[in-house]
Amino acid sequence: MEISRRKFLGTSAAAAAALTFDRSASAATPRISVIDRARVSEPAFQPVVVASANGIRGVARAYDMITRQNADTLDAIIAGVNIQELDPEDQSVGLGGLPNEEGVVQLDASCMHGPTKRAGSVGALEDIATPSLVAKAVMDYTDHIMLVGAGAKKFALEMGFKEQNLLTEKSRRDWLRWKACLNPVDNWLDTRSDSAASPPPTASLSFDDPLHVKFTTGTINMNAVNAAGDMSSVTTTSGLSWKVPGRVGDSPIIGAGQYCDNSVGAAGSTGRGEANIKVCGAFLIVEFMRQGMSPDQACMKTIDRVIAMTERRLLDPAGRPLFDLQFYALHRDGRFGSATAYEGARFSVADASGARLVPMKFKFARSERPQMPEVRCRRA
Ligand code: ASP
Repeated sequence: MEISRRKFLGTSAAAAAALTFDRSASAATPRISVIDRARVSEPAFQPVVVASANGIRGVARAYDMITRQNADTLDAIIAGVNIQELDPEDQSVGLGGLPNEEGVVQLDASCMHGPTKRAGSVGALEDIATPSLVAKAVMDYTDHIMLVGAGAKKFALEMGFKEQNLLTEKSRRDWLRWKACLNPVDNWLDTRSDSAASPPPTASLSFDDPLHVKFTTGTINMNAVNAAGDMSSVTTTSGLSWKVPGRVGDSPIIGAGQYCDNSVGAAGSTGRGEANIKVCGAFLIVEFMRQGMSPDQACMKTIDRVIAMTERRLLDPAGRPLFDLQFYALHRDGRFGSATAYEGARFSVADASGARLVPMKFKFARSERPQMPEVRCRRA
């Protein structure tokens, strides 16, 4: 059985220890047994998968694929996010994602494969439920990194992806309700009673902007490291609900929605993309980890940078953001962390202790969260 150079180097300390033992214990111990002992010693890196809270099923699947099936980290995390992309009940990604202002679902996704230093991305992709896989196909089959709009869809169809209507009945109704709530003196009536109204999507966080128009955000980001220290990252989303057609957020932006440097770590984001794009959040987190910060510290320092870079209209009088944004980080050495502005959010982790939700570090206590304005509707 061959042992790779990386694995051999990674276990060289254990091998050296075993050699020392063998020399002193018995000069007759065959040399091969020393190498075998090194092979079965602890892996050089601990496999870990981290994701946004809606990735709790996904991290379990990805961790299982990485540890039991020896799957590539990117294949594993894409299989993880595919669960949400194909779940019509998750209104923040893929099938069932909330549409743009014209009722059209437009999806963004990007990925990075650490060991081969490659990336792929799609923006404003319509009618294909798994933009994460299309982003990977851009990476695998083209010399480009990003395809958008009609070109991205044409490419996906050429790659064999299936075209389908992504607007579920639930998302269509929510879109109509948003239209009805948009302007109290226009011609759209809110025909739904409160009891008939859908609860907000569980996987999503929301904010109300100062114009009293409710937008909903939600996305899934996932990052992984395997026992060889190889890493990948992926982010996929239907973006900001009711967005202007053609708007792309941070998710498909390499360095904002996700980033992976195989020698350092991986990071990603969910929440208000416009706030993240300006600080290249995922890239910045990886750079902070490269400088020696822990994943938690790197995420929190990036939240600070976001606030420092936020325009006045999106801050309350005390300088607190009127939006949600979450960062997730995974160091190559297996440490993981996250941060967000306000108390209460959690993120998903899967490692040798199992898959679980972990509270995120926050900057402001729940009680400090600014009051968001009510959505005003004209009833039928
Ligand atoms: N970050 C996504 C975007 O801005 C939305 C979200 O995560 O909720 O498109």
